[in-house]
Amino acid sequence: MSVELDLTRKPGAPVVSNLAGLGRERLRQALIGAGVEEKKARMRATQLWRWIYHYGVTDFSKMTDVAKELRVVLGETFVLERPPVSMAQTSVDGTRKWLIGYGPNAEAECVYIPDVGKAGALCVSSQVGCTLTCTFCHTGTQKLVRNLTAAEIVNQVMVARDALEEWPTSNEDRRLTNIVFMGMGEPLYNLDNVVEALDTIGDGDGISISKRRITVSTAGVAPKIPELGQRTGAMLAISLHATNDDLRDELVPLNKKYDLKELFGAIRAYPDLSNSRRVTFEYVMLKGVNDTLAEAKDLVRLLKGLPSKINLIPFNPWPGTKYECSDWETIEAFAEVLNRAGYASPIRTPRGRDILAACGQLRSESVKEKASEALKRRLAEKEAGLE
Ligand code: SAH
Repeated sequence: MSVELDLTRKPGAPVVSNLAGLGRERLRQALIGAGVEEKKARMRATQLWRWIYHYGVTDFSKMTDVAKELRVVLGETFVLERPPVSMAQTSVDGTRKWLIGYGPNAEAECVYIPDVGKAGALCVSSQVGCTLTCTFCHTGTQKLVRNLTAAEIVNQVMVARDALEEWPTSNEDRRLTNIVFMGMGEPLYNLDNVVEALDTIGDGDGISISKRRITVSTAGVAPKIPELGQRTGAMLAISLHATNDDLRDELVPLNKKYDLKELFGAIRAYPDLSNSRRVTFEYVMLKGVNDTLAEAKDLVRLLKGLPSKINLIPFNPWPGTKYECSDWETIEAFAEVLNRAGYASPIRTPRGRDILAACGQLRSESVKEKASEALKRRLAEKEAGLE
């Protein structure tokens, strides 16, 4: 063991204290930083990987195949922690929502929705707040606070699996089988971290949720769309909501930057699209705004030749919104046009509305601290002896 461990911290080694959520390479680097010999680091990282992501342990002493001395060193150097959950709510329909703290002024939500996907889907956030200002979206009224790191994204899955008691990873009777990046934020504006998180979540020796069961939704950051597919193999979802540029400019202002033509060019360049790997189009039903039958027909025309499925999302209201949800008959008539064109069962029943966990209702109170406010806070903390 003494041969394997050189306990002097290497200069420049990353200072990481929480190993939970890290990808393989970061884990290996952290072990080297803690003094594990470079030659052995990969093997040690593989051992730890299984404990962290297959068994979900939060205590190094449980890692029975790791030498005792190393376990002690790891326990002194690192933790295996989940981020704090500041609120956990369960809807009458079984949807569960967790508000997760990521340090001062940074909270993000994640939502577990039973009976979606193979058994149940976890909707994860990629950013605290959002830079986009889609007019019908509650999160869009909150400014971007910051990107979440890959580990912070992965830790949403860890929190959910703790709560659902899904350790160790099993291949049967899982409740959490799918992941959708449809929580707070625009995943393609945080692509590197999303890619790293997907690698960890999809890894077959750990959480093991296959990339085909992971869907990344974008409001339409066209230049990043093919790259997402190349780097991850994840399924693609597009928040479309309008079939012409004028209306889409209004609902999804990002459309002014990447219009429908550019967006569809990028979607067609998404790798490996086929009937078993379709693009999901999300279309929120807004009363008197985008819900005419003519628009349903335009939608069919727009998607022609593209392996796609459509999710009609009844608009979920939130305090202060100017929109209303389309009438049920209107949604059904709209769906009927799509059905006749060969798109199956497209209406998505709203879930978790009572706990504001439905699409577009997520919002945290987090705000970005202004530099002046941060300074004030630090001075106050210093005075109170907290620093
Ligand atoms: N920024 C990404 C990821 C967020 S996904 C994206 O836009 O795709 C969240 C989904 O919920 C998007 O399709 C969004 O358009 C939709 N949505 C937002 N607000 C909504 C609301 N109030 N009711 C129903 N769906 C909403």
